[in-house]
Amino acid sequence: MHKRLFTPGPTQVRPEILKELATPQIHHRAPEFSELYADIQPKLQQVLSTNHPVLLFTSSSTGAMESAVTNLVSKRCLNLVNGAFSKRWHQITSGNGVPCDAFEQPWNVAIKPDMVDEQLSSGKYDAVTLVYNETSTGLMNPLQAIAEVVARYPDVFLLVDAVSGMAGAPIETDAWGIDFVLAGVQKAFALPAGLAVAAVSERAFERSKTVPPRSYYFNLPLMLKSHLKNQTPSTPAIPHLYALNAQLNDMLAEGMERRFARHAAMAAAVQAWAKKYFDIYPEEGYWSQTLTTLVNTREIDVPALIQTLADEYNLRISNGYGDIKNKTFRIAHMGDTQPDEIYGLLTAIESVLGL
Ligand SMILES: *Cc1c(COP(=O)(O)O)cnc(C)c1O
Repeated sequence: MHKRLFTPGPTQVRPEILKELATPQIHHRAPEFSELYADIQPKLQQVLSTNHPVLLFTSSSTGAMESAVTNLVSKRCLNLVNGAFSKRWHQITSGNGVPCDAFEQPWNVAIKPDMVDEQLSSGKYDAVTLVYNETSTGLMNPLQAIAEVVARYPDVFLLVDAVSGMAGAPIETDAWGIDFVLAGVQKAFALPAGLAVAAVSERAFERSKTVPPRSYYFNLPLMLKSHLKNQTPSTPAIPHLYALNAQLNDMLAEGMERRFARHAAMAAAVQAWAKKYFDIYPEEGYWSQTLTTLVNTREIDVPALIQTLADEYNLRISNGYGDIKNKTFRIAHMGDTQPDEIYGLLTAIESVLGL
């Protein structure tokens, strides 16, 4: 029996979208592939509020994170760290031999614009990485305000991991001056895992030509060259592109404003419930629109709750991440999930816990 996913990635995929994966294969150098690619492109640009090319990565989000830091840092990268995924981006940066420093905050504390300003004023950096929505903690960093600060430093590129935020919360890529913003599609896009997308600015492509290539697979100049022909350098995940195209059609039919409002409404419902029965992990004012991390104030047996929900209700939620496992647990309210399904989940948790 399928367990309905309320996990912060992968998320639940609708059956109509799963069927798209079974579309008969086309050849990736045939004109019908370029037609598919060209069909997808403006829709992705609409979701991301951008005129920049949106590249398709046949990899999980981690590949696109690696691409950003290996192609776009000439001098030194500042990694803003306040959770597991931002920490991973620092590890990806240093692991690839890219000069970098981590600026760390406690996991329940947001990165504030003045912190970024202070770090960048050192003049050491020409790129900064930020995780918009920390999926490990349910904390949403103030992306727009941070982008305003970064914009005051003309040589500094803003690289954003928006993996669990994109398509669930607004991102004004061009208006906010974001040079690279990426997401894997298995989170708020509500698609199967295995594909990532990233909008890349013109000046980012320019710089990438001057950075010695650290990778062939994730080489931005090569990817751009293919992109201009509505192609990808190597064989892409063609089945995923059919699913992506169908999902983009449905998302735009719903309307991005309405989609974001639905996410905000589900977040408000889960937050109110969390405040009533538990507590919320991140500091107030920075709660995520796409998932909530609840503090286990009642000292419940979190693995037992997860197991019972799965076995008896066919519903799956997530434990806390890393060091805050069992001390917290997570409920995703993103993708194509509807408010009624969230109410049903919360009622099921109340039954299991006897609340
Ligand atoms: C899930 C996630 C990742 C890692 O994504 P993969 O697709 O597993 O590589 C990175 N960053 C954030 C914020 C995430 O939520």
